Amino acid sequence: MAGFFRRLGLSRDIGIDLGTANTLVYVSGKGIVLEEPSVVAIDQDRNPVAVGEEAKKMLGRTPGHVTALRPLRDGVIADFYSCEIMLAEFIKRALDGTIGNPRMVIGVPSGITGVERRAVVDAAKNAGSREVGLIDEPVAAALGAGLPVSEATGNMIIDIGGGTTEVAILSLDGTVISESVRVAGDELTEAIIAYLKKVHNLIIGERTAEDIKIRLGSAYPSPGDEFPPLEVRGLHLMSGLPRTVTIKAEEVRESMDEPLSVIVDAIKRTLEKTPPELAADIIDRGIMLAGGGALLRGLDRLVSHETGIVTHVAEDPLRCVVKGTGEVLKNQKLFERIVNETTRNV
Ligand code: ADP
Ligand code: MG
Repeated sequence: MAGFFRRLGLSRDIGIDLGTANTLVYVSGKGIVLEEPSVVAIDQDRNPVAVGEEAKKMLGRTPGHVTALRPLRDGVIADFYSCEIMLAEFIKRALDGTIGNPRMVIGVPSGITGVERRAVVDAAKNAGSREVGLIDEPVAAALGAGLPVSEATGNMIIDIGGGTTEVAILSLDGTVISESVRVAGDELTEAIIAYLKKVHNLIIGERTAEDIKIRLGSAYPSPGDEFPPLEVRGLHLMSGLPRTVTIKAEEVRESMDEPLSVIVDAIKRTLEKTPPELAADIIDRGIMLAGGGALLRGLDRLVSHETGIVTHVAEDPLRCVVKGTGEVLKNQKLFERIVNETTRNV
């Protein structure tokens, strides 16, 4: 490991947020160079057809011989082969023919097992990385959100991604308590699909449902901020024919009640387990929300209402984790304390 640091600066370092919904890549000296959906399209011989944005457009729209899939589901690697293809392709695009063989820091969900950690490290090594360090996503998210993670003070970060919600209390560069639940943005989207099917007899796809969530969704009612109803196209359950129905913002909010309460309960459970000194810090400093799920309107108000603690949404929540990996690559002390700690357990 020592040589790992001596070589610092010899080639470009790479920070990766390997998310279930989106993968982002930071390159030292350049900044964030890539932001793509974590989707791969493969043909029947398992050859890659498209990776990233192009592959996402194919989700649910592929002909028989092509499959568009998400290599990560629920915060774990669901398909190792396509994950490796995706990582290799993104690293190639990020480096854009410059110096290869980079050092890498990859953000992974804190709840993943040793075997899954090993799988991420192997995929990155096979993709051409010389040395791979892992960092827990909540730590990276907190750094990227600008929280004073190194200080002797309690910081609470909640990273709501596609597949997992990570709740963590951090202090002195370490995780004091954390909890990961496999309910996040994807489940909110699925709840909308289920609602439309049950109440309006309308079958819609994942992309349409996500679009409804982003355009009309909210976690908490806010008077004066209501959106006009939205026309949704899908297939009628009985006739099987295309049909348009109108859905109200209020309905979308109600449809997401259950997954939202799972997220809120995880936050409450973590607070209950927090040592009193750190809890006092969190009451002073508030709760920080990161990840794409933090963009759901009114989520900060819901969390604040349910916990009684002031809640903030990080600036640029989708980029917190990758920014955090960049911070770690810039600061060797931080790197040694945070990244090594995680990787040693691999
Ligand atoms: P991951 O880290 O798992 O890749 P991200 O942090 O990239 O996840 O967040 C992706 C999730 O955020 C998706 O479920 C997506 O639908 C959701 N999302 C993105 N933008 C919004 C928005 N404006 N409102 C609500 N949800 C959003
Ligand atoms: Mg994430």
